[in-house]
Amino acid sequence: MSTADPWERDSRPSDDTGPLARVHVRAPGKINLFLGVGDLDEDGYHPLSTVFQAVSLYEDVIATPADGFSVGVSGVEDPETVPLDDRNLALRAAKMLAAATAYDGGVHLQIHKRVPVAGGMGGGSADAAAALVACNELWRTGLGADRLHELAARLGADVPFALMGGTAVGSGRGDVLTPALSRGRYEWVLLLDDEGLSTPAVYRALDMVRAEDAEFGAADAEARRRQDPVQVPSSFFESLLSGDPFELGQSLRNQLQAGSFRLRPQLEETIERVCDSGGGSVVGALVSGSGPTIAFLCESAEAADLTAATLRVQGRTALRAHGPARGAHLVAGTD
Ligand code: ATP
Repeated sequence: MSTADPWERDSRPSDDTGPLARVHVRAPGKINLFLGVGDLDEDGYHPLSTVFQAVSLYEDVIATPADGFSVGVSGVEDPETVPLDDRNLALRAAKMLAAATAYDGGVHLQIHKRVPVAGGMGGGSADAAAALVACNELWRTGLGADRLHELAARLGADVPFALMGGTAVGSGRGDVLTPALSRGRYEWVLLLDDEGLSTPAVYRALDMVRAEDAEFGAADAEARRRQDPVQVPSSFFESLLSGDPFELGQSLRNQLQAGSFRLRPQLEETIERVCDSGGGSVVGALVSGSGPTIAFLCESAEAADLTAATLRVQGRTALRAHGPARGAHLVAGTD
């Protein structure tokens, strides 16, 4: 079956029973506004206590019918960074849905990426969430939100949130989600790094930092080495409800960033420098997830535009986004 020109057509049939020719789904990247990380459990995972916010950096996934399974990617500078084989999370999502529903056809997935690869913003997870929604529609397999969530959780801890979007509290491995009330719109500047960070390597670096703290008797070592992740305090939810960027800025926290700083010390220096030079208009900053993307929260859209422009003049890649944003959703019509 032809997979040509997936970006140029939108040809849903007029009735809703015939085969679809193309389904377009968009899914957001995320920032962890709060990330508490516990010590390794027996299964080799770190329990998490997190608050996700979806942001307006979207991955576009277009699904077209095909005999087998394949994936193509655009929007990345270095194509080598995204695998096109079974390691690709979107392809795995499509195959998992086919297996779960006994669907015997295939799909070609064309992904246009905007979320930085290996940037700690869950781009691969967004692709997987979008692929689940797109294939479920294309194949008319009709799984409901609960079943899609189940498959998403099997694909990775961040995938269910990419389906859901908005703002949500995640516990367990981040996949047990509860929507969180949030008021207003938050303006972000995302500062990219040329080279990604491997999430497992950042967790290992965090384990190392914690072990050293214990060994050298750092004053707050006990507090930091608790078995359980630091829980989201109630004041955090109050700041989300306030809709006030200053309040949220004060509450941002990422326990994992000690690992990112260990692997890339310049991240800590950059956060300090940008916050100090922002004249108070940058109201909070943290490493996004495992990094190396840094998320700066600004007091207004204008302040964020100015901060991003200043960073670009300095030769850095800075993107603008706002949150919260919608979870994986169908894009209708031609685009
Ligand atoms: P994580 O979800 O592990 O925290 P991340 O958000 O930092 O990761 P991603 O862009 O999701 O970063 O990708 C992490 C790695 O996953 C990449 O280095 C890449 O090798 C692999 N990967 C698999 N599928 C995809 C995909 N569809 N897009 C990007 N990377 C993918």
